[in-house]
Amino acid sequence: MSARNETHDPALTSFVASAQSPGCDFTLQNLPFAIFRRKGTKEPWRGGVAIGDQVLDLAAVCKRDLLAGASREAAEHCTGAGLNAFMALGPQAWSALRLGLSRLLRTGTRNMAEARACLVPMAHVDYALPARIGDYTDFYASIHHATNVGRLFRPDQPLLPNYKWVPIGYHGRSSSIGVSGQHFARPVGQRMPRGASRPAVGPSERLDYELEVGIFVGPGNVPGSRIALDDAAQHVFGLCLLNDWSARDIQAWENQPLGPFLSKNFATTISPWVVTLEALAPYRTPWTRDAADPQPLPYLDSERHRGEGALDIQLEALLQTQRMREADAPAARLALTNLRYSYWSIEQLVAHHTMNGCNLEPGDLLGTGTQSGPGEDQVGSLLELTRGGKQPFALPDGETRTFLQDGDAVVLRAYADAPGKARVGFGEAAGQVMPARPL
Ligand code: CA
Repeated sequence: MSARNETHDPALTSFVASAQSPGCDFTLQNLPFAIFRRKGTKEPWRGGVAIGDQVLDLAAVCKRDLLAGASREAAEHCTGAGLNAFMALGPQAWSALRLGLSRLLRTGTRNMAEARACLVPMAHVDYALPARIGDYTDFYASIHHATNVGRLFRPDQPLLPNYKWVPIGYHGRSSSIGVSGQHFARPVGQRMPRGASRPAVGPSERLDYELEVGIFVGPGNVPGSRIALDDAAQHVFGLCLLNDWSARDIQAWENQPLGPFLSKNFATTISPWVVTLEALAPYRTPWTRDAADPQPLPYLDSERHRGEGALDIQLEALLQTQRMREADAPAARLALTNLRYSYWSIEQLVAHHTMNGCNLEPGDLLGTGTQSGPGEDQVGSLLELTRGGKQPFALPDGETRTFLQDGDAVVLRAYADAPGKARVGFGEAAGQVMPARPL
C-alpha cells in the first residue's frame, strides 16, 4: 500500500495548467475523489476527481471510453451517487484507476481533447457526501488534546489511566454529517449553569469546533473477524477533513456517564474531497512512542508500523465572522498543527475498532478526534484556545471570541507538502453557525 510508483513522480505535470500553480492542492500526484454535479442542475450525482481547478467527470470518462482494463472497470464503480462500491473494491482497483487517471491527465496524453471534454470547473459544481455513511465513530487520538481538555476538569490528573493503553472512541451519528458548505442552527439543549441547582434549557452558549481528520473505510471486515494492524491500510480508502461541532455546555451536563450525545449529533462537516492513502504514501513517516510511555500492546504494534505508521499532514483551522465576511476580509487562523502528533495512528484506530469482531463496512467514517499539537497555537478547538472559555482571544478586525457566535464560519484545511515532493492538499471543510430555532 505504501509503495510508491510512477504516479508519485514529482516531475509529472498535467495538461490542466492550474494543477501546476504554486500552492494548488490538486496536483496530478493527488487525484482525490468526490461526488459532484453541475451547480443549480438536477443532473445525477456522480464521481469526480480533482485536477487543478477542474473536476474530471468519471461518468463522462467511462462514456467516452477513455480508460481500459482494470482502470476502466474501477471507474465504472464511480459513476453513481456514492463511492461505496468503489471503496469496497480495495487497493488493487483503487491503484489501477489512479494509474489510469494519472496517465490520462498527463501533459502529452494522446487523449487530451477527449479528456478535456470531461472537465467541469470546480467553480461550477456542487458536492454531495462522498459516500453513504452507514456508521460513524469518533476517536480521541491526540494526547495533547486529551491532556489540554483533561486539565480543565482534573488539574491533578489530566489524563485518565487508560489513555496510553487504549484508543478511546465513541459511536457518533451519521445522519447529520454534511459536506462543506453546511449551515446548521445553533443547538438548543439542557445545561447546568454554574452554581444553579436545576438545568436551564436554551441555545448553547459554548459552541465549539473540532479540527479532525476523517477516515473512509474501504472493504472492511465481516462480523467476528478482525483487521490486523499491518492489513489496516488496505481497508482505508482515504482521508478527509472533519469538523465535529461541539456544544460544550450541553456536553458537560449530559456527558456523565455515557459520553457525548446531543452535544455533538446535530452537525458534523466534512470536506467533499477524499484524498487516497496511496496519494499520501510519500508523506508517511516513522511512528514513535516516547520511551517513558507504555509501548503499545502487540496487536497495536509492528516493525512496519513503527517504520511508516504516521502521516505528515499539516492541519489548519480558520474563523470567518459575519463582520469579516461583510468586509470581504480573509478568514483568521485559529490553529496550525500536524497529524503526525497524533498519539494513535490511523491504522491503530482501524485495528483497535475491529479487535473485538466489530465489522467495518465500505463508506463507514472514523474521526481521529481533535488534533492538537504540543504548541499553544496548535490547539484544535476553542475550548483549548480559551482555556475553557476563560481567556477570550482577539481577531484581526478587533472582534473577540471565546466560543462561536451566530454567523461565524469555521474553515478547515489540510495539506502535505515538502521539498522534492508534490503537494497533496485536501481543499477545505467549511461550515457556518446559524441562529438557534426557538423552542
Ligand atoms: Ca470529536
